[in-house]
Amino acid sequence: MTDKLAWIDEELSNLRKTGFYNAIRTIGSAQGAWLVVDGKKVLNFCSNNYLGLANHPRMVSAAKAAMDKYGVGPGAVRTIAGTMDLHLELEKRMANFKHVESAIVFQSGFSANGATIPALVSKEDIIFSDELNHASIIDGSRLSSAKIVRYKHCDPISLESVIREHQGTYRRGLIITDGVFSMDGDYAPLDKLVDVAEAYDLMLMVDDAHGEGVLGEGGRGIVDHFKLHGRVDVEVGTFSKAFGVMGGVVAGKTNIIEWLRQRGRPFLFSSALTVPDTAACLAAVDILEESTELVDKLWSNAAYFQKEMRALGFDTGLTQTPITPVMLGEVQLAREFSRKLFDEQVFAMSLGFPTVPQGKARIRVMISATHSRSDLDQALESFKKVGEELGVL
Ligand SMILES: *Cc1c(COP(=O)(O)O)cnc(C)c1O
Repeated sequence: MTDKLAWIDEELSNLRKTGFYNAIRTIGSAQGAWLVVDGKKVLNFCSNNYLGLANHPRMVSAAKAAMDKYGVGPGAVRTIAGTMDLHLELEKRMANFKHVESAIVFQSGFSANGATIPALVSKEDIIFSDELNHASIIDGSRLSSAKIVRYKHCDPISLESVIREHQGTYRRGLIITDGVFSMDGDYAPLDKLVDVAEAYDLMLMVDDAHGEGVLGEGGRGIVDHFKLHGRVDVEVGTFSKAFGVMGGVVAGKTNIIEWLRQRGRPFLFSSALTVPDTAACLAAVDILEESTELVDKLWSNAAYFQKEMRALGFDTGLTQTPITPVMLGEVQLAREFSRKLFDEQVFAMSLGFPTVPQGKARIRVMISATHSRSDLDQALESFKKVGEELGVL
């Protein structure tokens, strides 16, 4: 009898041979500026914990207090018996925070996209999608069965030209873009995309996973950054990045949110966000509404680090946000750089093809409000040392 799973061993060994095998590191501490990674204490530049909320004492105590009252699990999907008053409170608070009519909470940003896109478009419809959109947008778009047409990254002129090309061939159209693009740290020209959406009567959706809690006044996101309130139909966000927890959110007009409560499949067929997650998200909204201190600290850390890196002679690419790519070119160099940084107690990930285009390998440095000035200085020192050793500087 042949081994019907032999193909998996072959595929895995191919991945190892070609260098695409993902070796996953183990974290042995709470999230923060410093982490224990594979047993070693290192400075952390890999997390999306932009504001340090993942281990914030107020978040932890809110989660504990909620568990004392409600337990841990939701027990059901939202539409049967899983909607707790905590979920409704979080939805109300998020709508308020983002200055929109309504909001709906999902189990993750990934499932928010899987819920939203197929609820808005189907077979007779079309999606205009930025070519660098996140995997969860791509998967949500495929699930919808709508025709998917890509436009050039952050390019409203390319968008307009593909729209013209397909005019008259569809029932409804939806433009989708990431807010912040996590590989380069650039963000969508949302003001221009809104103009195109309005000119051609298309729905517009932004997935602001890396902008929520980062961009806009006090972290209210990319729509707030551009002051486009009421002109972007669907704002998807996540609670897993700057908010430091887990969960997804969609914000927009009441009729869209109502529709998602009726037709968002992960809302109907996957259990509700857990009690501690929901309570911690509520605490995050409290913290963000009380003060812009953490968001301000994030941006001042990023400005300092990026300025000093450029002064050393590094190329920080296209970034407009705290995501700091350090452009190195070849993937072998980026990997070697990351390994040497790790030896220096600096944990920063290398990214290469196919995650980023060929020849555009890089180290990606994720700056956080939790980094102290001396943490950043230590990292700068290590980047300088490794950069000189490897002939980058
Ligand atoms: C991280 C990310 C997601 C997934 O969010 P989760 O809450 O972690 O599932 C979705 N979209 C974009 C653009 C992201 O960056």
